[in-house]
Amino acid sequence: MVARAARATDLADLDAAVSDCFACPRLVQWREEVARTRRAAFRDQEYWGRPVPGLGTGDARIAILGLAPAAHGGNRTGRIFTGDRSGDVLFAALHRAGLANQPTSVAADDGLNLRDLRIFSAVRCAPPDNKPTPVERDTCAPWLHREVTLIRPTLRVVVALGAFAWAAWWPVLRAVYGQRPPSPRPAFGHGAHWSGTNAPDLLGCYHVSQQNTFTGRLTPGMLDDVFGQAKQLAGVD
Ligand code: SF4
Repeated sequence: MVARAARATDLADLDAAVSDCFACPRLVQWREEVARTRRAAFRDQEYWGRPVPGLGTGDARIAILGLAPAAHGGNRTGRIFTGDRSGDVLFAALHRAGLANQPTSVAADDGLNLRDLRIFSAVRCAPPDNKPTPVERDTCAPWLHREVTLIRPTLRVVVALGAFAWAAWWPVLRAVYGQRPPSPRPAFGHGAHWSGTNAPDLLGCYHVSQQNTFTGRLTPGMLDDVFGQAKQLAGVD
């Protein structure tokens, strides 16, 4: 799997390769079981039930790094943050920021286009309880590292959604940018900002999970502030 990731010469090649990954037995079993049993509301739909690749442009100056696909969102539709409440909140904000051409993301063929933005997750398969194990995180890391390598020429800012994504960024620094991560690691928080040399800036943002958005811990205004800052740092109009 590491070799396959390293061989990917462009994003289309990488997306195809990651979609065919079976490296984590527990996650393969879970993604397929969810796709078989389905949620009642989606009973008539064919679930994707495979790893979910990144989404967006190859010349992105901004990247959003999430945790993992949702069982009945990305794992159902085959597109990251697509078809669930988290995606509703995220894409509404991206549309307000001018980084998406529409405020919704409901299906892989819904006409969504991103501008200057790539979205990907630290783990590419839906995990039970949204909790990948450390071994699964590390097993999946080569896909993330290769994806960042492929967009490295333009990438200026990474927005980490939640503490898991924030922590997943530090190994990227070493693997892609040849840099030693800061020690101690900067703490995650909403609005946290780490600025490196010859590496993208890292911004912390609470995850767009229902747990955060339904309770008001993360509001649309807070998302607007983060994406406004990301655009400013990345030089996106
Ligand atoms: S989580 Fe990543 S490494 Fe594991 S099976 Fe899915 S795509 Fe492969």
